[in-house]
Amino acid sequence: MGSELARSVLRTAAVPSYPPAANSVLDAKVAYFSMEIHIEDDIPTYSGGLGVLAGDTIRAAADLGIPLVGVTLVHRLGYVRQRLDPERGQTEEPEPWSPETRLTELDVRTRVEVRGRSVELRGFRYDVRGAKGGSVSVLLLDADLPSNDPADRQLTDRLYGGDAEYRLAQEIILGIGGVRFLRALGCASLERFHMNEGHAALLSLELLDEHVERRGASVADATDVDAVRRQCVFTTHTPVAAGHDQFPLDLALAVVGRPELGRMPAGFTHEGMLNMTYLALHLSHYVNGVAKRHGEVSQHLLGEYRIEAITNGVHVATWAAPPFLALYDRFLGGWRADNFSLRYALKIPLEEIAAAHHAAKSALLERVALVTGIHLDPAVLTLGFGRRVTAYKRPALLLSDLDRLRRIAANVGRLQIVYGGKAHPHDDEGKRLIAEITHRAADLGDAVRIVYLEDYGASTARTMVSGVDLWVNTPRPPLEASGTSGMKAAINGVPSLSVLDGWWLEGHVEGATGWAIGRDGYERGDGADDRRDADDLYGELERVIVPIFYERPDDYLTVMRNTIALTGSFFNTHRMLEQYIAHAYL
Ligand SMILES: *Cc1c(COP(=O)(O)O)cnc(C)c1O
Repeated sequence: MGSELARSVLRTAAVPSYPPAANSVLDAKVAYFSMEIHIEDDIPTYSGGLGVLAGDTIRAAADLGIPLVGVTLVHRLGYVRQRLDPERGQTEEPEPWSPETRLTELDVRTRVEVRGRSVELRGFRYDVRGAKGGSVSVLLLDADLPSNDPADRQLTDRLYGGDAEYRLAQEIILGIGGVRFLRALGCASLERFHMNEGHAALLSLELLDEHVERRGASVADATDVDAVRRQCVFTTHTPVAAGHDQFPLDLALAVVGRPELGRMPAGFTHEGMLNMTYLALHLSHYVNGVAKRHGEVSQHLLGEYRIEAITNGVHVATWAAPPFLALYDRFLGGWRADNFSLRYALKIPLEEIAAAHHAAKSALLERVALVTGIHLDPAVLTLGFGRRVTAYKRPALLLSDLDRLRRIAANVGRLQIVYGGKAHPHDDEGKRLIAEITHRAADLGDAVRIVYLEDYGASTARTMVSGVDLWVNTPRPPLEASGTSGMKAAINGVPSLSVLDGWWLEGHVEGATGWAIGRDGYERGDGADDRRDADDLYGELERVIVPIFYERPDDYLTVMRNTIALTGSFFNTHRMLEQYIAHAYL
């Protein structure tokens, strides 16, 4: 008893009472702006990777006691709820939620001008608690007020909804409204404004206005531009120019308004468009891509601006499934406050990894049975593919040669596949790919059983990345800026079989943390490459992965343990945020 007590006292004493928790929005030094933020699984203010990254960044800040505040929109109707049926493929519905019942409303209002109309904004606050008791707040802006024109009340309803004008109005609310709202709250100690993707770029115009006004001037000069640059940090997330958010100049002038744009120095437009990437580039002192390769590709694309790289990560406590949370709590003291501790997963006995994985796999198969009525076999090697469905991710590559897949399953070892993912409502090619996967799955029948889980969101993602045996990713290089779902799989001991692009170029150690499809090289992208990559994918399964899984289970478990220790201890948002602090914020 005595030693038990001593141990518990020691445990208590070992938890320091610092850092001074950043509990107040008013103390924030960094404002982090993102059009989407995954704050909770069932709050539909996110669509995919970008919002998940934003949420994981904020959760890391809460763990580390970083004085940061998040800014986003309330998105009352969410993104889209996906329905799948054999006849019509994907259809979408809104996913309304009620911020009033989940969040605290702040007693502050501000205003922005949209197409010459004044739109009043309020804000809700959501507090993210960290591992050591600190917290970071997220502010969610809302235009649904009776004082606003009925059309303007809907401006904060739909994430990535509407036409160009609607999107631009949302960006005014996020960027300009966000800065004004922080000022109205009394945030005076903000030193850095981080734009997570170009959607938030208009915040730089508001900061510029602040400097102009402070000088009592009416036009910005070079000192104002320099001052804004010192304040701003920009993270770009797409490696193609076509992916950059941009608006025709006449629309921008009409919607954003003449006074703000009139004060802009040269360099904010690009090829006759208000290009949010160029605006953010022009007014930031630090710009980065989200993986090393993405930094290089962006540098090539964006010429005269200097582009650095900080590779993405995931927040371990958010993405580890319950059996792995319990395992880490038992074996890795302090890991919640320090994700680098995952390195010591090398000490966890293989049987313990096996037991946790078995529990996670059972949870996935139960969920599959519940929602599809299909009973997958827990003894069969299970592949997972889940992410936004769009052409460059090539979700059907895995099913491009059904005979080959049948032969592997019949002669080398059985396979089954779990798919998930939504296509953006305007992405017809993405929707066609979902239909193609469903048809090919029907062709395979019982030879290789395939299920497609409807309405892929964070909760389905967590169940999938932890419950499969192998996570597959097949982007067409160099279009995967980073990718993060393979990192989520890794912290659940699930290795990747992935094309060498994005983060996998840094995370991949052949045969130790997973397996590569194809060789490294950017200049690809035609049909022949699809065939070659598919051939490689099947070859890896046939010659390497399926035999290890069935014939040398301890070797497979060793790879699983390595993914936690090598991949998980590095590709997390604790490491990522510390790099932002060292390179971008300080
Ligand atoms: C992590 C995540 C993504 C991103 O997946 P990638 O493979 O990195 O593209 C998308 N959607 C959801 C719901 C996620 O949790």
